[in-house]
Amino acid sequence: MGKTVLVVGAGIVGASVAWHLAKAGCKVTVVDTGDGGGLATRHSFAWINANWGNPEFYFHFRRRSMAGWRRLEREVPDVSVNWCGGLTWDISAEDFDTFEAEHTRWGYGMRRVDSAGAQRIEPGLKTPPDRALFVAEEGMVEPVEAARAMLAATAAAGGTLLTGTRIAALSARDGKVTGAVTADGDTILADETVIAAGTATQGMLETIGVRLGMITSPGLIMHSTVASQRLLNGMVFAPQCNVRQTREGRLIAGSDFAGADPKGEEDRMARELLARIKALVRGAEDLDVGFVTVGHRPTPADGFPAIGRPPGVEGLYVTVMHSGVTLAPIVGELAAREIVEGLRDPDLAPYDPGRPELG
Ligand SMILES: Cc1cc2nc3c(=O)[nH]c(=O)nc-3n(C[C@H](O)[C@H](O)[C@H](O)COP(=O)(O)OP(=O)(O)OC[C@H]3O[C@@H](n4cnc5c(N)ncnc54)[C@H](O)[C@@H]3O)c2cc1C
Repeated sequence: MGKTVLVVGAGIVGASVAWHLAKAGCKVTVVDTGDGGGLATRHSFAWINANWGNPEFYFHFRRRSMAGWRRLEREVPDVSVNWCGGLTWDISAEDFDTFEAEHTRWGYGMRRVDSAGAQRIEPGLKTPPDRALFVAEEGMVEPVEAARAMLAATAAAGGTLLTGTRIAALSARDGKVTGAVTADGDTILADETVIAAGTATQGMLETIGVRLGMITSPGLIMHSTVASQRLLNGMVFAPQCNVRQTREGRLIAGSDFAGADPKGEEDRMARELLARIKALVRGAEDLDVGFVTVGHRPTPADGFPAIGRPPGVEGLYVTVMHSGVTLAPIVGELAAREIVEGLRDPDLAPYDPGRPELG
């Protein structure tokens, strides 16, 4: 039997790390306060992409993970991505050409379409834009279902899932993390402990004096009532709002980068998003607000993921990031390789948890 590994957090990131470790022969225990499926994960827009003004190294990392989702679909029963593509015209006129040229140079499958082209991709748009960019290789996933599918695969490979269990503190001795203590006072021993606790990561690391600066911006997503038919084929990023239709049939929408800060005005923002959807999408006229979520993005202080071993402590590995839905496959794969084989993938270099920007 391989190493004994404790994974704290059963969101999309923890679930992927757990599955890749179990696949590599580790004895994995996943612990989560909730019922499995995460917190940020269930409040996400869940767009799988390498879009939106990323530096080139981060673009390629995200793209590598997009390929990872296709691998997960083959490996894990019930993981299923809708590779529907994304149609974007939420870009200012002066940035449009540069944005297109840069992403095309980097190898993104980006195609410029005119109004007729946009209408062919999304016949449900009431007023298609004069020009837009379509990326056929982008996808959307139902993130809680995907996380639970990976947790089930972990269990099938011999792993243990402890739901409804809160980790109160990490345990450490002589500079090595030896596991964690639950809120009930039970000790879980492990050769390695992975912190995939989303926004709670910073607080958990502080229990052993490790610092990792984070910002956790809120984002509201409005979920409409269920539409009786398919109104959109894929994801739409319009200046008015970002919107997609879930597998269940709801239109879900956020403003400003897949979910903005409601600043205490959830109802008003939800109604406004619904009105914008009705103006944008044919057939949405009879929909109402179904429910609203406000999630917090677990973002390291400089905006990039933190993946790896914090300096000065053994037996500990951190995986915390925004865009965790996009990045879950690559993070799981590379974290498991580093933990099991001691090999750190060169693409992880920018994401060292010990980098000065997070101090
Ligand atoms: C509004 C919004 C829109 C987004 N849109 C996108 C998008 O379009 N594309 C994209 O790629 N990403 C998007 N993201 C980001 C993405 O959702 C997150 O990066 C991702 O879900 C993080 O997953 P996670 O598993 O790390 O964290 P989480 O899902 O938060 O899971 C962490 C888990 O740790 C558990 N936990 C915490 N503390 C403890 C403890 N003490 N003991 C035991 N368990 C504990 C929690 O219960 C939780 O289940 C969005 C996020 C938000 C909020």
